[in-house]
Amino acid sequence: MDGGRHPRPRGAIAHAAPPSPAGDIRRVFLGGRRLPSPQPLAMSSLAALREGYERFDPRAYLQNNYLPPRADFSSEEFVVPWKLRCLAETFASGEIRGHTLIDVGSGPTIYQLLSACDHFEEIVATDYLAVNREELGRWVRGEPGTFDWSPFIRHVCKIEGRGEPWQEKERRLRARLRRILPIDVHRPQPLGAPLHPPADALLSAFCLEAVSPDRAAFARALAHVGSLLRPGGHLLLLGALGESFYLAGAARLPVVPLAEDDVRAALGGLSWHPNFKRGAPSTLWTRSGCSAPIYQEKGGCQGREEGTDL
Ligand code: SAH
Repeated sequence: MDGGRHPRPRGAIAHAAPPSPAGDIRRVFLGGRRLPSPQPLAMSSLAALREGYERFDPRAYLQNNYLPPRADFSSEEFVVPWKLRCLAETFASGEIRGHTLIDVGSGPTIYQLLSACDHFEEIVATDYLAVNREELGRWVRGEPGTFDWSPFIRHVCKIEGRGEPWQEKERRLRARLRRILPIDVHRPQPLGAPLHPPADALLSAFCLEAVSPDRAAFARALAHVGSLLRPGGHLLLLGALGESFYLAGAARLPVVPLAEDDVRAALGGLSWHPNFKRGAPSTLWTRSGCSAPIYQEKGGCQGREEGTDL
């Protein structure tokens, strides 16, 4: 089904979700780090996916997904303010911080970095497509004619509640977003070479399920990406469950429809043994009456915290 990035057509969904302005359910996961052995990829479907991305149009993607009606800040029933709230709440705890954060599959967007950028000295954006990296570069340099993220920045400043002028946050993100690198999550070394030192945190929004032909590829991509993270670091995945495709102009990109258990299995398969984060404002992560797990590693492989209920 549509992951909230575009209107959901009839017949395209794996299972029905209650209608909502946001389209369907979103989840945020935090996991830890552990590497499996690389396995062979399903090359044909991967090749088809790559071909699809050749038609990805950053401007159309932004228009489809980051302008009204999706970018309606009047209610958190809409997907964009919901995403911003998830991210603001996650980083507000102050637990996820460090020198370097890598955003995996940034696309042409920066909304996902607005709360993160207060907690890391360097933000590394990444994308498979040069057109997306170029779009991001133009925004960082403040070139005229780039997408107007100011409504997003104003909204994040408002929900963070510190009274920070939005221009200040914009300036900080531009200053900290110093590297925009090519990435391929289907390679055991997604950046081509290990990052030194490894990242303190990874963030990935609406990427892994959107670039993986099947659940096995999703799990492998997660493992590849995990190799970029330092032991004890944090992984934050913001994504869609049950999504089957999204639009970026002429490109109709397939998405592997994931269930919550698929994500849990992928994390568990890496021996990340995610912990439910107790005391998290779980209602904030809830859509359509579903429970809302947040996973977090506590310095290594641990079981779930006592008494938690996923
Ligand atoms: N994070 C953004 C964009 C998500 S769209 C958002 O939240 O809106 C998925 C992104 O994955 C696209 O930008 C696409 O170019 C990128 N992508 C495609 N193939 C990829 C691959 N093999 N590895 C990493 N990223 C890939």
